[in-house]
Amino acid sequence: MSPQTLVPVLLYHSITPTGAESRDPFAVSEAGFREDMEAVQASGRVPLTARQLGACLRGEQPLPEHAIALTFDDGFADFADVALPILDKLSLSSTLFMTTGYFDQPGMLSPAALRDIAADASLEIGAHSVTHPHLDLLDASKQLKEAVDSRKHLEDLLGMTVDSFAYPHGSHSRRTRSAIAEAGYINAHAVKNAISHQTDDCLAVARFTVVTDTEREQVARVIGATGAPISWKGERLRTRGYRLARRLMAGARS
Ligand SMILES: [Zn+2]
Repeated sequence: MSPQTLVPVLLYHSITPTGAESRDPFAVSEAGFREDMEAVQASGRVPLTARQLGACLRGEQPLPEHAIALTFDDGFADFADVALPILDKLSLSSTLFMTTGYFDQPGMLSPAALRDIAADASLEIGAHSVTHPHLDLLDASKQLKEAVDSRKHLEDLLGMTVDSFAYPHGSHSRRTRSAIAEAGYINAHAVKNAISHQTDDCLAVARFTVVTDTEREQVARVIGATGAPISWKGERLRTRGYRLARRLMAGARS
């Protein structure tokens, strides 16, 4: 058997411009992000969009031996102002997963700004739900509505096909996976903080989240396909236990 081809998939949220401050524990500084992207370029890995990676995982395209994917969740305005210019300068393709209910909120992209950047051929726009819920805690019809409505909103706005999705909080169950497929998505990204690979699930691609406190050396190791576990099949017991805990907390609040 040939050795497994590993595919690091990095997940970023806000990229804080130099000179600005952020208290968001997920925000990565512009300098840190630039260093990560220079490491990606120096690694010689080929950046794939979510759609390209999905096609490789389904065997429709050969998976490059050294692939990587760069993804961004939620739709922060600083993606257009800070991250994308760095990606473009280094000729790195990426995917931006938009939470459509966040449009025009403070610090988030406007529909017009998204339309502008969507013209960038190296950028894929995917959906990330309407209201950013833990989808696996919703009933099936609500999960489907989040998946369908966010897709339709983006397709109507951009006039292009949206067939990639990222689960908010990475949360998904078998039922969520079915809802996503029923809504017409063929690619979906999870979190797992693991390295994806050639036999990963194209509807639950593993990603590694880079946050404020992540050390640059660790990002470099993940780019090298070490520094995080290899994605596993199915969901861990721990994930199911976590869902139960979140359900109990949601019940306690309502
Ligand atoms: Zn998100």
